Order: sequence, then C-alpha cells, then structure tokens
Amino acid sequence: MIYDYDLFTIGAGSGGVRASRMSAGYGARVGIAEDRYLGGTCVNAGCVPKKLFVYAAHYSDDFQESRGFGWATRDSSFSWPKLLQQKDTEIQRLNRVYERLLTDAGVTQYHERASVVDAHLVRVGNQMVTAERILIATGGTPSIPGIPGAEYVISSNEAFHLRELPGRIIIVGGGYIAVEFAGIFKGLGVDTTLIYRGPLFLRGFDEDSRNLMAKEMTRRGIRLLFDTLITAIEKDRARYNAILADGARKQADMILYATGRRPNTNGLGLETAGVHLNEKGAVLVNNEYQSSVPSIYAIGDVTDRHNLTPVATAEGMVLAKRLFGGIPATVDYSNIPTCVFSQPNLAAVGLTEDEARRKFSRISIYKSEFTPLKHTLTGSGERTLLKLIVDRDSDRVVGAHMVGAEAGEIIQGIAVAMNAGATKRHFDETIGIHPTTAEEFVTMREPEPERTALS
Ligand code: NDP
Repeated sequence: MIYDYDLFTIGAGSGGVRASRMSAGYGARVGIAEDRYLGGTCVNAGCVPKKLFVYAAHYSDDFQESRGFGWATRDSSFSWPKLLQQKDTEIQRLNRVYERLLTDAGVTQYHERASVVDAHLVRVGNQMVTAERILIATGGTPSIPGIPGAEYVISSNEAFHLRELPGRIIIVGGGYIAVEFAGIFKGLGVDTTLIYRGPLFLRGFDEDSRNLMAKEMTRRGIRLLFDTLITAIEKDRARYNAILADGARKQADMILYATGRRPNTNGLGLETAGVHLNEKGAVLVNNEYQSSVPSIYAIGDVTDRHNLTPVATAEGMVLAKRLFGGIPATVDYSNIPTCVFSQPNLAAVGLTEDEARRKFSRISIYKSEFTPLKHTLTGSGERTLLKLIVDRDSDRVVGAHMVGAEAGEIIQGIAVAMNAGATKRHFDETIGIHPTTAEEFVTMREPEPERTALS
C-alpha cells in the first residue's frame, strides 16, 4: 500500500516538530497538523514567555539591590502592556522560525485540527490523509480540580495574556508553575499568596532545597499557606473568595490554579482506533514510543512521563533516528537536570538525599549554604545552597542540588559531569573559577556528620 505520508504528526510542539524535521531529513515524506500555534506550549504558553516574565520580575530586585553598589535609582515604573507586547512580538518571531524550519525541512504543514480514524488514516480538517506511521505529540493542558466556583479561576494559559495585573493574587499549587508564577507576580508588584495542600511545596525535590526556597519566598514577601485546602471559590463583585476547608476565606482579585496538567487526548479518536490510554488519558507507549496500535506512536507530554520540553525533543530525535535513520538510539532518562525558575532558581540533577538513602547503603552529603558575594553589599539577605550527594562505595556523585542565582545555568554543567560518571574525586580535582558561586561545587571537602539513629 502506498500511503500519502511515511509519517504524519499531530501536534507541532517541541517534540512533534523535532521528530518531523528529523524524519524528513532522513528522507521520509512527512506531514504535520497543528490547529493552534507552532511551537506548542513551550514557545507560546510555557517555558519561553515564562522565562521572559521571570527576567521582567527580577528587575524589581535588581533596582533595589543596586543601591548597595552606590546606584541611586529614580523612577523605575513598570508597564505590563509593554512587557506583553514585547513578549508577543518575540513569540510571533519564534512561530515564524518554527514555520520556516518545517518548510525548509520539506514537511507539509496543515494548520487544522486532526484526529485519528484508524491505524493509518487521519482526518485533517475536512480531508483524509493516509500514513504508514502516525505520531501523537499533542502535549498537555492545565488541569483544574472541579470544585464549586472553578469557573472563576484562571490557569497559566490566561496568565500570559492578562489585560492588567491584579492587585492581589492567590496561586494554588506547589509545583513548578505555582512557584514560578508566585515569583513573577510578586516581582511585578502584586500582593501574592501561594496556597498548597501539603506540608511543604515542590514535592519530589530535595528537602533542603525546598526548605530554603520556602524561606527565600517568604523573605521576598510571598505569603505561603501550606497544609491548606480550598473547597470552593466564590465571586464577590470584582473579587474572589477562596473558601478553605476550615471555613476561613481568603480574598483576592484573581485566583490562579497551577495544579498540574493533563494529556491532550480528548477528541483525538485514539480509543476508537484501539490506542490504550491510562486513567489520566495519557497514551501508553513501549520503550520505542509505540502505542498499543503498532503504527501509532506518541512522545512528550501526551505520554505524561517526564513533562519537560528537552525530554520531548530528545524523544522526537530518537524516534526519527529509529524509524527512518536506521540508528537504534535511545533516550537516557537518568540524570535529567531540571530547574524551577523561581527567584532565586532551584535546580537539580540526579537523586535527592532521601532517594539516595533508599538506593545506596552508604552515602555522603556535602552541603554549603552561604551569602553569595553579590549580596554582601546588597544586604538583601538572599542565601544560596549547594548540595552534593555521593555514593560512598563508588565515589560517584549521584545528586546535585542548588538554590541560588542562575542555578539552572550551573546545574546544566554538573549534569554533563554526572552523565560522564564523575566521582567526588573528579569534582575535588577540578579547579574552581574564583570568585563564583559554582566553584563551591568543587571546593566542598567536609561531608556532613553521619546521621545517627537519634539525629
Ligand atoms: P506539578 O505537577 O509540578 O504540580 C502540581 C501541584 O498541584 C502539586 O503541588 C500538587 O500537589 C498540586 N495539586 C494537584 N492536584 C491538586 C488539587 N486537586 N488540589 C490542590 N492541589 C493540587 O504541575 P504544574 O502545573 O506546576 O506543572 C506541570 C508540569 O509542567 C510540571 O510537572 C513540569 O513537568 C512542567 N513544567 C516544567 C517547568 C520547568 O521545567 N521549569 C515549568 C513549568 C512546568 P502534590 O504535590 O500534593 O501532588
């Protein structure tokens, strides 16, 4: 059977675009459908605009801190419309870049909604196309619990397009998005409260990092309410009340829910075509990204595994290599570095202390918490934490954690070392760059005292 395409991709986000371009580069005939924006969540309602907002928010600290270095800042007013316009211009530029990349690679683009009809048939707008293989790369979407009044809240999607900044905001959740947006809104002058249902936010990260992050956010004036559950939202004229489980009310001009994301599989026709989904609607795939229908593949957030852009692009590359390049490549999911773009950053690679204690019989912990040089003059009180976790039997560094300025930039390099199998001795033998914060990673000599049963 001759198909219209060797590969037809649904969803032109980070993963879908990479898989399509690379497959076309190997000579495959590729089509891609996208009914919203090229570049997906990362470019349009995620990583990129978020990071631009983080930069914007940081200026409030910078203006304040510059005084310690002798600067007298006069009027430093902020224009939200100007930031939105600048951000939108950059994103439109990126949309065009994505379009050009696909065109240059020879990928046929359909700016329409697509759904799967069967193992080799896709409906795109009003037409049908056939494909030897179909790739689902439709990503995810914010998920808001169905409590009474949920219609009054916004998600991160809307946060990128607010006509004006609220005076007071409540942010619900304790993951990446909640913590990042809390820093953004606070930095832009909004009275910010973060409400999280558990005892300490950023579950899954190292406890020392989470604790310092809580202190840093509190120091910046963000109100953190932990162990707090919202049961309903009520509208009160132009304001909103969050009704807490104990009956208390918290009022704000806006409530942002950042309570996770769910895979975009609704209305895609996958179940009818025989593709198995999990209880959250994620496509179940094997190690080769193949679903229960062998000709239908899925990568990235729609599989709800490691919901990070660089993982989706890595999966896209590997899939193209395997299907059309004749290269049996795989993605190494160990040591995926990650960064919460909070203020300051929180970044990590490898195991947390708790995970390492469960995995190895003997570990050493190297930890350094200090005031970075810059803040000796700003007087801001900002603290930085660096932490290494070492398996004592092999001397391998199995976890690295940091809370501090540019932690994301620093942990990226540490991740390379860890992937190359670096031992603590390698770190010790590396010469530092002085004076930097990162040099502390190669100068920590004394491990923390070992935990006893009583400590
Ligand atoms: P996360 O999964 O990171 O966090 C969700 C948070 O919401 C958790 O704190 C969770 O609590 C809480 N929560 C979940 N359900 C409820 C509920 N019903 N009521 C109250 N609280 C609830 O999701 P995000 O939305 O922050 O981000 C989605 C994903 O996007 C991330 O996991 C990450 O993969 C990706 N991302 C990555 C970024 C980066 O790399 N910098 C930035 C932004 C997003 P609990 O911990 O108790 O389960």
